[in-house]
Amino acid sequence: PGIDHVRIAMTAEKSARPLIVAVGSGKGGVGKSTLAVNLAVALKRLGRKVGMVDADIYGPSLPRLLASEDVKPGTEGTRLIPVPNAQGVPMLSMGHLAKPGQAIAWRGPMAGNALGQLIDADWRGIDLLIVDLPPGTGDVQLTMIQKYKPVGAVIISTPQDLALIDAARAISFFDQAKVPVIGMVENMSGYVCPHCGEVSDPFGSGGAEAEAADMGLAFLGRVPLDIAVRSASDAGTPPAADEGIVGQPFRLIAERVAR
Ligand code: ADP
Repeated sequence: PGIDHVRIAMTAEKSARPLIVAVGSGKGGVGKSTLAVNLAVALKRLGRKVGMVDADIYGPSLPRLLASEDVKPGTEGTRLIPVPNAQGVPMLSMGHLAKPGQAIAWRGPMAGNALGQLIDADWRGIDLLIVDLPPGTGDVQLTMIQKYKPVGAVIISTPQDLALIDAARAISFFDQAKVPVIGMVENMSGYVCPHCGEVSDPFGSGGAEAEAADMGLAFLGRVPLDIAVRSASDAGTPPAADEGIVGQPFRLIAERVAR
């Protein structure tokens, strides 16, 4: 079931918070944050009122990906006010709660409290929060799913066996918490050589789709390993934001998530 399906049930409950969709992965470096940002931007283009929370305390990357590194969130009373950006996707990051470059060595409960501040911020005008979870299945993820009940989760994996085993672990984590897994995305799937156009598969290809089929999960799409994805992301201009070909896989994934 996509977001709309769940939305109807939630509206009936008059939820005060925006609906939460968690983006998770079994391990780091698979492109979870990149996917989360582009998904949010693409959903925004589809007319959703989208905000983002960067729950990745040990490696917050949304401030860079949304070009708002030097902006500090304001407060109103005890609540944080989300940081605006050029994409129109207000965002709060664990990175905003720490000094730049400072190592964050919080124990579980502190991290959980910090996460609470981000989720319970002033999300007025936003009805969908995309939450970029830390990789794996630790304390922050537990707090997130037990306390803040996402309406669904999107799992990112590379086609590699190892990443897939970790992804399966993340999926069972959401299953146990009864958070519906909306589907799986295969990132870094196939590489097109910018010089000769030859397609190669550095991490294999199709593994996540097969895994999703095995587990009875929806497959939301694949994103190729593409230098343009990395350079646009590093520049704080997510490729899903314009009509370009580079952003197309992300826009397709967003359509499937919203369906
Ligand atoms: P994670 O959140 O899983 O740790 P990131 O989104 O931070 O991963 O991505 C890790 C690195 O890989 C970043 O430098 C990012 O720009 C790059 N990257 C992610 N997806 C792609 C892709 N499809 N093509 C090229 N580079 C990518």
